Amino acid sequence: MRLGDEGSGNFDDRTGQSGFGRGGGGGNLLGCLLPFVLSRFGIVGVLVLLVGYCALTSLGGGGILGGGSGAGPTASSASTLSAEDKRTLTSVLLSTEKVWGDIFQKNGKRYTPTTLVAYSNANQSGCGAAQAAMGPFYCPTDKEIYIDPQFFTELRSKFNAPGDFPQAYVIAHEVGHHIQDLEGRLDQAATAQARASRADGNAIQVGIELQADCYAGVWAANAKAPDGTPALEPGDVEEGMRAADAIGDDTLQKEMQGRVVPESFTHGSAAQRMAALRTGLQSGNPAACNFNAR
Ligand SMILES: [Zn+2]
Repeated sequence: MRLGDEGSGNFDDRTGQSGFGRGGGGGNLLGCLLPFVLSRFGIVGVLVLLVGYCALTSLGGGGILGGGSGAGPTASSASTLSAEDKRTLTSVLLSTEKVWGDIFQKNGKRYTPTTLVAYSNANQSGCGAAQAAMGPFYCPTDKEIYIDPQFFTELRSKFNAPGDFPQAYVIAHEVGHHIQDLEGRLDQAATAQARASRADGNAIQVGIELQADCYAGVWAANAKAPDGTPALEPGDVEEGMRAADAIGDDTLQKEMQGRVVPESFTHGSAAQRMAALRTGLQSGNPAACNFNAR
């Protein structure tokens, strides 16, 4: 993508800080449940995190707990964020602010941007502990996105999704959750999930995740280069499709447990995720992104 060097100021670099020293957080029950709903961008790894009084359980396999340093005072050490990763994070974020700002304005609303927090290994979010193994996530309590840029390396190596577009897709997917939050859709989903069976609850979550994928496509379709031409370059869509394919629940399940259990899907199959991203890319219109859970 051609997004230029300009970056958003709604960015908080906490890389280099150690552990959970920052903030009290804890979060309410909604804050505890929603990170579970939203934490994994298809990232895998069986891990249980105890966060205050609530446990977040994330299924799957393969995620490596990124050497979290555990509880302790915040050391305000130097940033470990590479210039390249910072540029990617802030330029994509700025572009999402422009695109969603325009879309909201057209609908007579004002877009309130999210803040993107870059951290390394472990940090505190308004939804409890942020761990690199959770993958990037959106926290509705503090309305911030948390990402350990190490995930970009995993995209390239573990998920075999190289290129700049998969990275942008990950960020734009989390921004998509922020859009859903502003639309009240996350609250609705949490309420519906609280009453639903496990299988229905998963289906609701799949609908949320596919809509976020579609919103990522909507952003990409509308993103502009500094000269005002489309930011998408040849090959970007293919890169994105490869990423969506690699992080589909069925792909991951096949890899990790050798079989596919559709009832336990939380983000959608590879085919569903690719279709959702494509719908956003082709329509450029968030109204096309209605992925209702069955
Ligand atoms: Zn998501």
